Amino acid sequence: MTAAPAHRVLVLNSGSSSLKYQLIDMESAARLAVGLVERIGERTSRLVHTPGSGEKRERTGPVADHDAALKAVARELAADGLGLDSPQLAAIGHRVVHGGRHFTEPTVIDDAVLGEIERLIPLAPLHNPANLLGIRTAMALRPDLPQIAVFDTAFHTTMPESAARYAIDVETADAHRIRRYGFHGTSHAYVSRATAGLLGKDPAEVNVIVLHLGNGASASAVEGGRCVDTSMGLTPLEGLVMGTRSGDVDPAVVFHLARVGKMPVDEIDVLLNRRSGLIGLCGDNDMREIRRRREAGDERAKLAFDIYVHRLRKYIGAYYAVLGRVDAVVFTAGVGENESVVREAAVAGLEGLGLAVDAELNAARSSGARLVSPAGARVAVAVVPTDEEMEIARQTYALVSP
Ligand code: AMP
Repeated sequence: MTAAPAHRVLVLNSGSSSLKYQLIDMESAARLAVGLVERIGERTSRLVHTPGSGEKRERTGPVADHDAALKAVARELAADGLGLDSPQLAAIGHRVVHGGRHFTEPTVIDDAVLGEIERLIPLAPLHNPANLLGIRTAMALRPDLPQIAVFDTAFHTTMPESAARYAIDVETADAHRIRRYGFHGTSHAYVSRATAGLLGKDPAEVNVIVLHLGNGASASAVEGGRCVDTSMGLTPLEGLVMGTRSGDVDPAVVFHLARVGKMPVDEIDVLLNRRSGLIGLCGDNDMREIRRRREAGDERAKLAFDIYVHRLRKYIGAYYAVLGRVDAVVFTAGVGENESVVREAAVAGLEGLGLAVDAELNAARSSGARLVSPAGARVAVAVVPTDEEMEIARQTYALVSP
């Protein structure tokens, strides 16, 4: 009798002080375990582990570093009979935020790949070092196992130069690798493909506008399964109004704040990335709270909501023009999946473009992928819950399965 082929994938998403993980069975698509370690390096670290069948377990107490965190995760998995030494583990899939122009696909990690991810640190100074830490830790623990990097930017590498380049001096841009890379690509890939499935079509046949509206937010125009434009750029700051990021502003705002406001550049960075967007406009970045305040007549919350929706509508219109023909507009992530009021406002008055929501379908709460446009609508409006971990697992498994 031959051994059953390995068909489990461990997905790791390593942040500077956190490690999120999911162990997924690729034959059944079942999540065997889900968890995270947070506040790594502090005295109050916390591990939360939820087995696919069984009770959630929590442990608090110092976890010194990522190595200790992964070993703690391995112990939890082993306690459920899912140890990382199991022959059923096929590979570890790592989320890596920035793959630059170099990484257009999921990639088996070796020393050259590690070097390239390191070379991209100036483009993602907060994320890539943390991602590398997770990779190195996992490689030390299971050096024999394929470790795959899945890049947030990869899905957007199909953008034509007309969308990917800023209209600035070409030599200066190239010398500093300045171009529009886009982010949330794993989510845009998953959601655009799932939308084609919802429409009963092949991804190659459909054009989709994906609106990923979480605390970070981005839009993309996907033509026949390939990304042709996206709203985030060199960094995740560009584009839509987000929880704490401004999205699009005139770049001269930065010069003005520096010259007239005498603000140091690092302070401007913090202003635009962490003190702007919804929180800068009204003091809250949770759309649930903004909705509640707006409904109670709060003017600041109303203004924040209006600016958020106005930007969203501009991008829907822009990507409609980029694609020429649109089969679906799809909402995903925390706000997109849950806030029917945002979806309704985003397409209000766009019947001329074939866009509308059915009030009842849009208001109904459900955790599954669903259409919210009226029956027979020219353009489908859909809600598709994103699943970045499943997409990372799928891409990882596709590289290593026989
Ligand atoms: P994400 O980054 O995808 O986790 O989305 C986070 C944002 O989505 C939060 O800041 C909330 O504004 C919003 N959100 C998350 N869950 C819900 C929910 N159940 N209902 C309404 N909004 C939600």
